[in-house]
Amino acid sequence: MGNREIFEESKKYMPGGVNSPVRSYKDMGITPPVMKSGKGVLVKDEDGNEYIDFVLAWGPMILGHCNDDIVKSIQEISQSSIAFGAPTELELQMGRFLCENLDNIEMVRMVNSGTEATMSAIKLARGYTGKNKIIKFAGCYHGHFDGFLVEAGSGVLTEGIAGCLGIPNESVKNTLIGVYNDIEQVRSLFEAYKDDIAAVIIEPVAGNMGVIKADDKFMETLRVLCDEYGSLLIFDEVMSGFRVAFKGAQSLFNVNPDLVTYAKIMGGGLPCGAYCGRKEIMEKLAPLGGVYQAGTMSGNPVVMAAGLATLNILKAKPEIYDHINNIGEKLENGLLEIAKEKNINIVVNRVGGMMTVFFTDSVEVNTYDDVKTCDIERFKRYFLHMLKSGINLPQSQYEAVFLSSEHTEEHVNKFLDAFRKFEG
Ligand SMILES: *Cc1c(COP(=O)(O)O)cnc(C)c1O
Repeated sequence: MGNREIFEESKKYMPGGVNSPVRSYKDMGITPPVMKSGKGVLVKDEDGNEYIDFVLAWGPMILGHCNDDIVKSIQEISQSSIAFGAPTELELQMGRFLCENLDNIEMVRMVNSGTEATMSAIKLARGYTGKNKIIKFAGCYHGHFDGFLVEAGSGVLTEGIAGCLGIPNESVKNTLIGVYNDIEQVRSLFEAYKDDIAAVIIEPVAGNMGVIKADDKFMETLRVLCDEYGSLLIFDEVMSGFRVAFKGAQSLFNVNPDLVTYAKIMGGGLPCGAYCGRKEIMEKLAPLGGVYQAGTMSGNPVVMAAGLATLNILKAKPEIYDHINNIGEKLENGLLEIAKEKNINIVVNRVGGMMTVFFTDSVEVNTYDDVKTCDIERFKRYFLHMLKSGINLPQSQYEAVFLSSEHTEEHVNKFLDAFRKFEG
């Protein structure tokens, strides 16, 4: 069966033919490539088309597809350990690795996805502070937990309104919507709900509205406000962790979070997540404390092995990050140059191996409002042109392009050659 046949058949059994909405390419009006295999940066679909992959499973495959060491670690461990639902030494190794190598992390709880990590971190923050409300920023994504699927109401200080069917308004009435990079707006939320804000959760380098790095001063003042009002500061590093730098987005700011969430790269491509932070907070979790959170598959040995294989390579070879940054810079500069020649207005935001090309007449993209100025029709034409040219990109203007250790200058040049032929 080819792409179309498999996808049409899949629609009979799975809503939209997919297990996660973005994969359907509904907005693009085409059948998505149905992936068959991947090695390094090359992926092949069921029609036999080959693409240079800049999606990397939405970030995790920072060492490229089917890295030999990761494959070997999965094969080896699965000879003896697939699942026990009991403590294992591999969990200890992962827990210790995170605590020893990352800042502001004294204890860890492993889970199975980014969503689980962020929703559990929020529950823990509420349990620890005894407060109810959270501030999340418009444009930031923290997974599909009810309390995060919220749109701002009419007034800035309005309580949240569910942005998704099936969520009672009671589930989101404690979610306040912050404006990214607008500290005065956040200050007004704190002033309005003084005693009741359990936590602020933020992507310090946002990737889910396209790449936007938070302002230094904004982040520093967030910390001050959290301290002043007794709220926890949660960094959602599900995407940025081990991505923008080995120590993640944390290392790009002079700000210490109370809790941090990881997933994606941390699992080496297997389903994984973790929330971590200060000991006194983490000890509020059951069995030590009263915040209950559990998982049959949490800390699964195969996942831990694949994750550790990945993290150990990233730690042993810091030059990977230099390489990714160098080719990222080449890609960024090349795109800007070509766009200028072609009279196409773009803004490129890039932090290491995470990049978005915004098709906008704006000079800068620093806020969610800036993101909304993008020409979505042009993005669509760009995406379809690039896919036809063998360049696999995220199918939305609001996502990040990812680079891996396996991308070379040659791959970057192919990207640029394809962009040169884009008609605008
Ligand atoms: C991907 C992502 C999530 C959700 O992770 P899942 O594993 O898809 O549940 C949460 N936060 C951020 C910042 C993400 O990029």
